[in-house]
Amino acid sequence: MEQMKEIFGPAGILSRHVPEHEARLGQRKMAEAVAKLLARQDGPPAACLIVEAETGLGKTLAYLIPTVLSGRKAVVSTNTRNLQDQILSREIPFIREHLAPDLKAMCVKGRQNYLCLHRWHQLTAGGQQELFAAAEESGDITTTKLRAWLKKTTFADRAELPSLSGSSSLWQKICCQTHFCLGSDCPDHSRCYLNKVRREAATCQLLVVNHHLLFSDLAVRRSGYGEVLPRYETVVFDEAHHLEDIAAQFFGFSFSRYQLVDLIADIEKAARESGGKRKHKKIFTAVENLAGIGERFFNLFPPPKGRFSLPDLFAAQPVLVPLKDALRADLEFLADQLELTAEKETDGPWKQFLPRCEDMGDCLDQITTQPTAEQNSHVRWFERSEKNLTLTATPIDVATDLQKVLFAQVQHCVFTSATLSAGVGFGYFSRRLVFQKTARLFPFLRRLITKSEPCSMCQTAVFLNLTALATGKNCIRKLKICSSAHAGAPWCCLLLSKPWS
Ligand code: SF4
Repeated sequence: MEQMKEIFGPAGILSRHVPEHEARLGQRKMAEAVAKLLARQDGPPAACLIVEAETGLGKTLAYLIPTVLSGRKAVVSTNTRNLQDQILSREIPFIREHLAPDLKAMCVKGRQNYLCLHRWHQLTAGGQQELFAAAEESGDITTTKLRAWLKKTTFADRAELPSLSGSSSLWQKICCQTHFCLGSDCPDHSRCYLNKVRREAATCQLLVVNHHLLFSDLAVRRSGYGEVLPRYETVVFDEAHHLEDIAAQFFGFSFSRYQLVDLIADIEKAARESGGKRKHKKIFTAVENLAGIGERFFNLFPPPKGRFSLPDLFAAQPVLVPLKDALRADLEFLADQLELTAEKETDGPWKQFLPRCEDMGDCLDQITTQPTAEQNSHVRWFERSEKNLTLTATPIDVATDLQKVLFAQVQHCVFTSATLSAGVGFGYFSRRLVFQKTARLFPFLRRLITKSEPCSMCQTAVFLNLTALATGKNCIRKLKICSSAHAGAPWCCLLLSKPWS
């Protein structure tokens, strides 16, 4: 703690080197709380710290400095690109210059941001001239430029191609999509850019990511393959008020018309290019059946755009149930045909379609199977947009998934934001949080806490109020919360910026 006092105190490094920096007690207290948390060795399950502190307090350095100095392998996850840029271009260079010259840190992005060398080789060798010509015509990028770029790039990150449009259809075909990846069977595995990113990330102490990447990584980790991030001990979630929505999206299930059409188009194209109808009659039959039943199924959905309840629609349109079963059966039949063909043609493209086909079948089951009252853990809905129709099951409570894939794997989690308590006073917050009454306030973390394993830290839970700290009032209260009402254990501290109520 002494070290944090020195760094964040009136004569500390920040006061000496950051122009117009004013030593703030709240910032120092937050840094001390993070340092204290990261000194714990007893996880997993993760010990957690929730910090609410107003904008301008200097939260970013208050968690970055103790995290770097702890030597822990850590991931910092933010919601916005701006905050990531600030951390990478301002905070990390400052920490390197004054505190940790050897700090290795990098930004890791979602896999779709990197070029897939295997897809690139397949498409350039397969005479996909229309695809590249269309990209040139739309002003996206020329093949010559792409080739020149690939000669000098290190990670083939699309951010290095400013002319590429966000919706580039060429990029969709050549980026590292999970469902195209052959993993260790890939002939380009040793030179794969994504693997390079993974190797480089494994050598860094600090990784900066966005919440979407972190949650997609946790979601694929749940399924056991395909993760981008190496193992880490600590996660800091900044802008944590966005977490619940993002987590729900990644731990949910979806099945869309676009996914189905895309899968069918890719398989048909592969079948045409490797022998055509005569050679792959069964695959063509399987995709034609699937396309027909898919159309009949989706055409029964009402035309108005927007989001609607799926159980209500199934109740009003009972014919959807046998159609859904037929769609599921056709996906299974197609998967069987792909598997049989992949066994015969080991160098063919068939294996890459299998997980896609199976995932879609599983998602359809998860979304449309009528749950019992006890199993009713998801909200099931469909959304019609201009070009697509998507069926979705969103978990009501993401805490169970987070317990399994995050808290059970790491040692520490820090959640911070300026707006965690949604403007409601600390008294209300603590009452609701600690004693498990129904709360509209911050329900996500309340649910996490109430589901946590028992822990010895309950006796020393410390609630800090930063506003009161700033005014010099006594605001640290040690709460004895080891009652049966509070089973939430690894949560050791809360720091709030709102006044006591
Ligand atoms: S390993 Fe996967 S991502 Fe990498 S080049 Fe091969 S197919 Fe592409």
